[in-house]
Amino acid sequence: MGDATSFKDLGLANTREMFRKAMEGGYAVPAYNFNNLEQLQAILTGCAESNSPVILQVSSGARKYANQTLLRFMAMGGVQLVRDLGSNIPIALHLDHGDSFELAKDCIDSGFSSVMIDKSSLPFEENIEISKQVVEYAHARDVMVEAELGVLAGIEDDVQHEVSHYTKPEEVEEFVAKTNVDSLAISIGTSHGAYKFKVKPGEEPPPLRFDILEEVERTIPGFPIVLHGASSVMPEFVNMINEYGGKLGDTAGVSEEQLRRATKSAVCKVNIDSDGRLAMTGVIRKALAEKPDNFDPRKYLGPAREALKQLIIYKNEKVLGSAGKA
Ligand SMILES: [Zn+2]
Repeated sequence: MGDATSFKDLGLANTREMFRKAMEGGYAVPAYNFNNLEQLQAILTGCAESNSPVILQVSSGARKYANQTLLRFMAMGGVQLVRDLGSNIPIALHLDHGDSFELAKDCIDSGFSSVMIDKSSLPFEENIEISKQVVEYAHARDVMVEAELGVLAGIEDDVQHEVSHYTKPEEVEEFVAKTNVDSLAISIGTSHGAYKFKVKPGEEPPPLRFDILEEVERTIPGFPIVLHGASSVMPEFVNMINEYGGKLGDTAGVSEEQLRRATKSAVCKVNIDSDGRLAMTGVIRKALAEKPDNFDPRKYLGPAREALKQLIIYKNEKVLGSAGKA
């Protein structure tokens, strides 16, 4: 394996035990995206304080933004930060929406403990073929693989789809058997970004397709399911952004009640990115507006980091049920 770095050398864990315990305990492990120092600190201290397992998630866009080498050392430093706080929570480092075998391989070789290969927009057989190829490389190094069936609409960094296609439950069993993946992202009505549903102000978003989820569960009992695009798009932060000069339209997210219901099922991993982005942006806008003479980044990034940390503790305790489960 040449000069490859194993995730074990970085003090990271893979997701096998995390998912097994989440399945048994009826909760979901949070997967939070990061691409800078403040997000990393907020996620890790928030999860350490609420004693929650955590999946640190990196998209290919984040990898380009933060630099892949720096990112690896940040994750390593993050583990040490958590241990210095006296916490033993398991921490996984996961590639979000990997789009090629080469990218997945590169991440595995640089210390990721989990990768997603997302070929859900390709024909079924091609999705199987590439996912299987990633699994073979990953499993030889004890790294876990997430794949996707069905397509989520919305924008996530480089990934954009105009329309969503619900997962077809009849495809799930064959896909899992042929690829040997460890978890499966499915499309049941969520989407990426802050505009998940087309609703008029005051209107309730449509419920998720729990019938599809239940059929998937019947087909592959006890198999870990992943929910993408699971931000609630909290009005508190959308309003804060708009109050301090921002311009967000009719945003809509997944209700906390729907998420709580999902965590009780085979959903073991819930991806949350937009809520963290909204919280940081709202607080930064507010801090800049209230102190126009300030030019110290710590004075607006610091409060944003604190808000994100509190948001993460809230999600772990009140929505995902992962608090106290590390
Ligand atoms: Zn996603």
